[in-house]
Amino acid sequence: MAAPNQLKEVLVTQKFTLRCRVCHGVIGQPYISLDRQTQRYGTRMWQGQRQGTITTLNCQEMFRYDSQNCRALHEPQIVAELKLKTTHPGAEPVTPCSRCAAPIDRTLPHVSYNYLEGEMTDWTITNITDSTELAVLCRDCEEPDAPATQTAVAAATVDQPERSRA
Ligand SMILES: [Zn+2]
Ligand SMILES: [Zn+2]
Repeated sequence: MAAPNQLKEVLVTQKFTLRCRVCHGVIGQPYISLDRQTQRYGTRMWQGQRQGTITTLNCQEMFRYDSQNCRALHEPQIVAELKLKTTHPGAEPVTPCSRCAAPIDRTLPHVSYNYLEGEMTDWTITNITDSTELAVLCRDCEEPDAPATQTAVAAATVDQPERSRA
């Protein structure tokens, strides 16, 4: 007979079941996500050297995947819905917008779409082994920190973590 504690553990485990956007398989490791972030570049002095920093002011997970293969399969759809003209921007302080090509001053808050790869623990991605920027958007294309109202692709899944339907 299951002790109350064991029962609780089972329920908690089920609540944390996350499924791949593309193949709907249960995600174990790696855990790959596309996050919409508001970022700002800065600098700091460290041991007498000026270092570049990236501050993430806001972060929302858009999609999650169980493999790089599924992530790659979904990318054309994301590129189409976000209306991206270019992808994988450079990391210079001034970078062209991935949608309209206007110059973005990265020292000011701006929207950045990033793929992260790591492990999922308590609803937080940890031990990040890879981070790849898919797109960077100017303030005219997407307002930093605002809800993703312009991108139906994104709005549909935010705040609705998939649950196990088992
Ligand atoms: Zn998958
Ligand atoms: Zn733009």
